[in-house]
Amino acid sequence: MYPAAFEYLRPRSIREAVELLLRHGEDAKLLAGGQSLVPMMKLRVARPKYLIDIHRIAGLNYVREEHGAICIGATTRHVQIEQSPLIRDKMSMLAQAAGEIGDAQVRNRGTIGGGLAEADPVGDYGPVALALDARMKCVRPSGVREIPASDFFTFAYTTALEPDEILMEIIFPLPPRGSAGVYHKLEKVAGDFAIAAAAVQLAVGRDGVCTSIAIGVSGGGPMPQKPAAVENLLRGKKIDRELTEEAGRLIQDDAEPIEDLRGSAAYKRKALSAVLRRALTESLRLTTNNL
Ligand SMILES: Cc1cc2nc3c(=O)[nH]c(=O)nc-3n(C[C@H](O)[C@H](O)[C@H](O)COP(=O)(O)OP(=O)(O)OC[C@H]3O[C@@H](n4cnc5c(N)ncnc54)[C@H](O)[C@@H]3O)c2cc1C
Repeated sequence: MYPAAFEYLRPRSIREAVELLLRHGEDAKLLAGGQSLVPMMKLRVARPKYLIDIHRIAGLNYVREEHGAICIGATTRHVQIEQSPLIRDKMSMLAQAAGEIGDAQVRNRGTIGGGLAEADPVGDYGPVALALDARMKCVRPSGVREIPASDFFTFAYTTALEPDEILMEIIFPLPPRGSAGVYHKLEKVAGDFAIAAAAVQLAVGRDGVCTSIAIGVSGGGPMPQKPAAVENLLRGKKIDRELTEEAGRLIQDDAEPIEDLRGSAAYKRKALSAVLRRALTESLRLTTNNL
């Protein structure tokens, strides 16, 4: 099916994009990689009168290390994140998550800003952004602000972004030295969205006691979550099989998934428990190797 008619606008700067968004209001939509928006337009679920293409704006596509963080421009493509030597070296779970998105075509076109703004409940960036306490740098007519990942996702397909706001950059603080990160995703078929996924960044001392833990999950509700109760359970304790099982039980009991084509609620609870336990076990193995 063809999309409804629209006017295509190509701003040359972020300032011009903000002005266009302000001028056209709810009649306009930003276009980044088009991997979510274009299918919705073809189905006529989305019918913007104006399409503001931001993906050619110079200076929105980069990966760089700055002030103890990895900063990523909003139109940086999934494949660039998957293959970035800096991200693979210092934030491997983010590279893993990007490499799990859809198929090669989606990863070649789709952008991190679009993926986060779309806020699919089981999108791959959500758990990583929450685990690593990412901050979303946004611009609007009144200026620039940062939204912590914990405030960014407000419901399924809904974020704290205002209608006249553009996500410019995602700031991922570097994880503690010696810690190891793992993103683990369970999918029904290769290239699909997750049934459940867990991002775990863990560090232990020589005695095996957890010195730092950060977790993000998806599949347990209408948006990705940072399970503070599980982090509190693990912090300061020796991570062994028994504790890992307990963490799995806790996340399962707290989860409130809905039944859909990817499985029943009961199955998804078990899937979430399994991906968390696997990510914990693997990150423990990797961080122990770093000691
Ligand atoms: C077959 C298929 C499989 C997929 N599988 C997965 C998967 O396994 N995991 C996963 O995470 N994703 C998956 N996706 C989604 C994919 O990651 C998309 O690339 C992503 O959701 C949207 O990014 P985009 O750059 O294409 O955004 P677009 O489609 O261009 O835009 C998406 C939405 O975000 C808004 N937007 C875009 N950029 C910004 C910005 N900078 N600031 C504010 N708003 C903005 C747009 O207005 C639009 O509403 C899949 C998509 C397809 C088609």
